[in-house]
Amino acid sequence: MALKTIEKDGKPDAGTTAVVVGELAKQMGMKAPPQTQSGDGYRIHTKGNLLLLAGETPSSTFFATSHLLESLGCRWFFDNSVGTVIPAMKTIDVGEPDISEKPDFISRSLWGPNWFGGAWREHNRLGGIAINSGHNWPKWFCTTDPQARADYLADVVARIKGKGAMSTSISPPDGVAYCKCERCAKLDIPDYIEPSSGTVVMSDRYQEFYNYIGSEAAKVNPEAILCHYAYADYTLPPENVKGGLDNLCVSIAPIRFCRVHSLSSEICEPRQRCRRMIKGWGGVEKHMVWREYNYNLAECTVPMSKISVWKDDIPWLKEQGCIGINVECMYTPHIYGPHTWLVARMMWDADLDVDATMDDFYSKFGGPAGPHFKAYWERIDEAYKTTPVHSGSYHGVHAFWTPELLKA
Ligand SMILES: [Zn+2]
Ligand SMILES: [Zn+2]
Repeated sequence: MALKTIEKDGKPDAGTTAVVVGELAKQMGMKAPPQTQSGDGYRIHTKGNLLLLAGETPSSTFFATSHLLESLGCRWFFDNSVGTVIPAMKTIDVGEPDISEKPDFISRSLWGPNWFGGAWREHNRLGGIAINSGHNWPKWFCTTDPQARADYLADVVARIKGKGAMSTSISPPDGVAYCKCERCAKLDIPDYIEPSSGTVVMSDRYQEFYNYIGSEAAKVNPEAILCHYAYADYTLPPENVKGGLDNLCVSIAPIRFCRVHSLSSEICEPRQRCRRMIKGWGGVEKHMVWREYNYNLAECTVPMSKISVWKDDIPWLKEQGCIGINVECMYTPHIYGPHTWLVARMMWDADLDVDATMDDFYSKFGGPAGPHFKAYWERIDEAYKTTPVHSGSYHGVHAFWTPELLKA
């Protein structure tokens, strides 16, 4: 269809060609958007002279408008005017779209210490349910003590009652003050040791507690997701106590593992260990959140690429039952731009064609310089992918940035 005029407000007269957005589109016969737990579903289709678009919520209606604008060539690569591509067109021809969309992950978050950008996130369809997994217990307590269990359950119930789809944390406090009573210790496996500390793994005793809280909380609000960290001496999955509740979620924060390579990298022992840990949790909890870094943490001065990492990791994490991707990043597009935009896109569509997506980025952002831009970033990506250095700091910079790479 060819649009001649766009009405800004009010209901269009019969026969008028119009774009109708949001609630009015639903009233004018738009087919229902897909129903999602996170309110992210949206539809775009034509009906006679009308182009109707709306989501389940105002946020997903915004996603629908961005989707339409993307189909016309608009892009929001970086959160600034340089990274915003809006083509000039005399005539807008939208064809006859019939689009029904929902995301692969119900929680999609990119954030950083120097960046809390607004519209860029919505244009790239970040959002969904904010999964909360921070340290939560008010203090250390005995997780097998009946009164302590009842008290903590009452606290969780107060947070979730009557709130529908939402998330709340049931994670232990930071630190290592584990209960030493016989009843708790009986749930541990004496020779199951966390390698980073030499301490007996606490995951079995905590899983028993999470299962209790989860099963009781489900009676009050089955839509509430209760999330706990895989962290410290409870990083490794439990071996004896089973999981599997519909409302429990583990949030995996791999701060002690390599951030350069993908989980399928054959040159990276730490990431292979991390992969086994994730798989283990996949056999315990039905839901998982991946809380990862988009830069090399203590090194944030030279260009780095995680294009290959996201290409490998995001589809695999989806397969493992991940429901959310939470990525900490630095807002420095000149050194991290391409893979930051890519991971935002993959949070919506884990199986997107990465090569085609990156080609779109290089050509639309780079314009006539697109091929050079592509060669530049592909060289950097290859250097990080193939260099067997796993340091999370500047100590590895010279190994990635060889004289040959610098010269190229
Ligand atoms: Zn105890
Ligand atoms: Zn590595």
